Amino acid sequence: MTVLIIGGGIAGLTTALSLHQIGVACRVFESVPVIEPLGVGINTLPHAVRELTELGLADRLAATAVPTAELAYYSGHGQRIWSEPRGLAAGYNWPQFSIHRGELQMILLAAARDRLGANAIVTGHHLARWEETGRGVRAHFVDRRSGEPVATAEGALMIAADGIHSTVRSALYPDEGPPIWNGAILWRGVTRGAPFLGGRTMIMAGHEFQKFVAYPISRAALDRGESMINWIAERKFRPDHAWRREDWNRAGRLEEFLPQFESWRFDWLDVPAVIRAAAACFEYPMVDRDPLARWSFGRVTLLGDAAHPMYPIGSNGASQGILDARVLTREIKAHGVTPAALHAYEAERRPATARIVLANTYSDMGRHVEAIEEYKRAVAIAPGMFGYLGAEYAVAGRIDEAKKVLAQLEAMKLTGWTAMWRASIYALLGNNDEAIRMWNFRPHHDWLSAIRFLEDFGSLNGDPRFLDLIRRMNLPMPRAPRAAA
Ligand SMILES: Cc1cc2nc3c(=O)[nH]c(=O)nc-3n(C[C@H](O)[C@H](O)[C@H](O)COP(=O)(O)OP(=O)(O)OC[C@H]3O[C@@H](n4cnc5c(N)ncnc54)[C@H](O)[C@@H]3O)c2cc1C
Repeated sequence: MTVLIIGGGIAGLTTALSLHQIGVACRVFESVPVIEPLGVGINTLPHAVRELTELGLADRLAATAVPTAELAYYSGHGQRIWSEPRGLAAGYNWPQFSIHRGELQMILLAAARDRLGANAIVTGHHLARWEETGRGVRAHFVDRRSGEPVATAEGALMIAADGIHSTVRSALYPDEGPPIWNGAILWRGVTRGAPFLGGRTMIMAGHEFQKFVAYPISRAALDRGESMINWIAERKFRPDHAWRREDWNRAGRLEEFLPQFESWRFDWLDVPAVIRAAAACFEYPMVDRDPLARWSFGRVTLLGDAAHPMYPIGSNGASQGILDARVLTREIKAHGVTPAALHAYEAERRPATARIVLANTYSDMGRHVEAIEEYKRAVAIAPGMFGYLGAEYAVAGRIDEAKKVLAQLEAMKLTGWTAMWRASIYALLGNNDEAIRMWNFRPHHDWLSAIRFLEDFGSLNGDPRFLDLIRRMNLPMPRAPRAAA
């Protein structure tokens, strides 16, 4: 009997191709009326490329994607910190492919239509609800815009590959609420330009609070001696910052991040020029969801982003969805089109993906803690770092420790630097009056780093006295507070 696949994204289409490969009938139901090549760049890591190769897609991928050869980390001033080989260059049997998400989706879609028949991929069918019958699952579809019913379909199993806003997940976990934001906003775009660093390098520049990631994604451009540069500009804000709900297609506004990158003109890449020349720019908050205790309920399971949306750290989102599809197919081959196959699939994939989701989260939270340890060491050598330590405590939510540093700073002689860090910690703790009092003690250009730090956490927004001070100090103005969604 047929398997119903909900969602025609990367994971859903890979599932369809995989089930077809083992001779299991399936149909894909996609919400949008027309599947278009949306998104910007993504990476498929060697473990996922291996699976796509098994599906006979290696040549099409190689003709479209860039086989990334190197990952390099740079400072915000453009100095190389670290680099490592990737894909074939790192000794894997399969390349890492950097590719436009839409082009990857079109490769999968064309292969699925070709092999399963055009009728197997049904668009304009948004899953609204389902019920289990004695022998399988009955799914009810509506037109997403009008909400009008369009069809029902019956299958032996239903695989929910319906992405981060999964209808199935929210029906199974009605109290889960929206995805969780980690304080970062990503602006993403693609720019046609000159190749940088040999044309097959992925770079990450900057630091915790401000980052720029770039990598080429078009084989055709590479062959022409050009580069289609996929880029992501990231800024970090305080948790109470007003941000707009995640939407893959939301247009970004250059004025909200370009000024912060204006000085990032490296001799190997002119970041502001790349940003300015982008054909389009999208905004996306960095969100994920906590790992679930269970994916499979009766004849229904979750797969891909519906099961484990994760931060885009480590290039894992699409690759893990592809692995899910392959493991599920292997288990269906072993156990038949049965709930037992779903349980065997979940037993392998749920713990594996939970580890990645959590590793991404901890690496993020952990950075503040790491910074604190770093500063503790630095304080022993350079007492000037002491104030910074207090500010890091405040940002990490370790309020008692922040207050302790503040108390020690208050017990010290009021000098330029003690005043600066007293002002910063007060601002981070929300005591603007004291912050302004301290700041007025000795406004100075050296305060720029403290101002930038506070600006990153939104602590300067909303109080015009800060802006007055910054103006008096002849420093660049912080960006305006964002409007709520
Ligand atoms: C338009 C779009 C643009 C994206 N752009 C990027 C990007 O630039 N960079 C990046 O890293 N990741 C991007 N992603 C996410 C990325 O594709 C996934 O993180 C990853 O590939 C896992 O894929 P997935 O198939 O699980 O989810 P997705 O690729 O998100 O696919 C889910 C599919 O399910 C469909 N769907 C949702 N609800 C229903 C429903 N009730 N009934 C039927 N169908 C439904 C959606 O329309 C979508 O086609 C994008 C996703 C989308 C949908």
